[in-house]
Amino acid sequence: MIILKTGQEIAKMRRSGEIVASVLKRIGEVARPGVATSHLDKIARRMMKESGGEPSFLGYKGFPASICTSINEVVVHGIPGDRKLSSGDILSVDVGVKLDGYHADAATTFVIGDVPDSAKKLIDVTKDAFFAGLDQARTGNRLGDISWAIQNYVESHNFSVVKVFVGHGIGTQMHEEPEIPNYGRPNSGPLLKEGMVLAIEPMVNEKKAEIEILEDGWTAVTVDGGLSAHYEHTIAITDEGARILTE
Ligand code: MG
Repeated sequence: MIILKTGQEIAKMRRSGEIVASVLKRIGEVARPGVATSHLDKIARRMMKESGGEPSFLGYKGFPASICTSINEVVVHGIPGDRKLSSGDILSVDVGVKLDGYHADAATTFVIGDVPDSAKKLIDVTKDAFFAGLDQARTGNRLGDISWAIQNYVESHNFSVVKVFVGHGIGTQMHEEPEIPNYGRPNSGPLLKEGMVLAIEPMVNEKKAEIEILEDGWTAVTVDGGLSAHYEHTIAITDEGARILTE
């Protein structure tokens, strides 16, 4: 069942979303060559605590950190640790915060030092694919319109959408219905309604779509070693169109 949110609930999620946005902004400032991903996790955790929120991811199915840090060929769910960032890396950071009972979730891929234009293009296409999907997030459309717009945009740039991970509804639970695949057919799936709050999150691979999970049970990597980028916002569907809650 897709749980519709009231204006009051959306306002609460906006407050969780503001924390998410400020954490991502700070991480973007701090992430430089030589900085360990565990340091970014520490900063995120402290910021969440200071703002009265809690990390949505810490302890989720046993996840050991407050944010996900996914470098280069890591698609999602990278665990922060001792690894230091190097110039030329791309770093996807996924942040979830629960405040006053409501979650918000967003992700961005950052460039570290000098990265090749091909990597920048992957990051840009991933972000623009999110906005292509967002354009379709309005009452009267169907969920498949969002999915199709993302897939179409990505594939028109000769990149691949990851299929095994999907976006999701969000609210008092971090993952609610519906699932939002980054591929699909237009005019299919549930009708979009006012009060739906969705985490739309294209995950885009430079080469093939296939991924595998490393032995830690979390880290998802591209099978062919190609780069992967991620871009996500939590958005609310209102009668005036879609509203991003995590910026
Ligand atoms: Mg998400």
